[in-house]
Amino acid sequence: MAKAPSRYPAALIFGAPGAGKGTQGEILTRVPGFFHLSTGVIFRKLDPQMEEARQISEYCKRGELVPDELTVSIFRNWLEGRRAADKFRPKEHLLLLDGIPRTVNQCKLIERYIDVKLVLYFECVDMEVMVDRIRRRAVMEGRPDDASESVTRKRLETFERETTPVLNYYGDSLIRRIDSSGLPAEVLAGCLQQLIPVLKENFVFE
Ligand code: AMP
Repeated sequence: MAKAPSRYPAALIFGAPGAGKGTQGEILTRVPGFFHLSTGVIFRKLDPQMEEARQISEYCKRGELVPDELTVSIFRNWLEGRRAADKFRPKEHLLLLDGIPRTVNQCKLIERYIDVKLVLYFECVDMEVMVDRIRRRAVMEGRPDDASESVTRKRLETFERETTPVLNYYGDSLIRRIDSSGLPAEVLAGCLQQLIPVLKENFVFE
């Protein structure tokens, strides 16, 4: 039997809040070969009775990042839980990481477990398009951190300041720019064009 990889191959779905990462991640996770994981979604599903969940929700409501060590430990526990439940199968699935890593320190912390093969950078040049998407999402999904425009702008600033250095960390050779202002089907086509070679290089399909 083939050995499980010591580090899980992964592609990052990278981009500012409102750039459309979640929409694509959800579509892609239904395509065989991918396993999508969003730290934002994991945080929102934590048991609200837990003290940890309450602290995390406070950071999210303020538009701030959850501390790195806490984020990475929840991420790992969740992923290992999915693996134990045979939902995430490392020999069959390319991990699609949405929302992590969000700081250079997180890049370093996950490096022991995650082998980043590609960064899909969802570019959206117009900040107002993102603010507007988040405003519409607030109505549809009722997320507390979407509800106020000042928190939305804070999240976009946090992204610029703390998260964009992640791009430098991985370097140009891994980055693929995706124009995220197109139709969801166009964005999907752009993602698949980049992801399929990574699947073929890292997994054996019978
Ligand atoms: P998202 O759904 O990706 O927009 O994430 C919602 C919120 O969860 C963010 O604004 C952060 O407060 C928090 N969050 C999600 N992922 C991370 C992460 N990798 N590091 C720190 N905070 C995070």
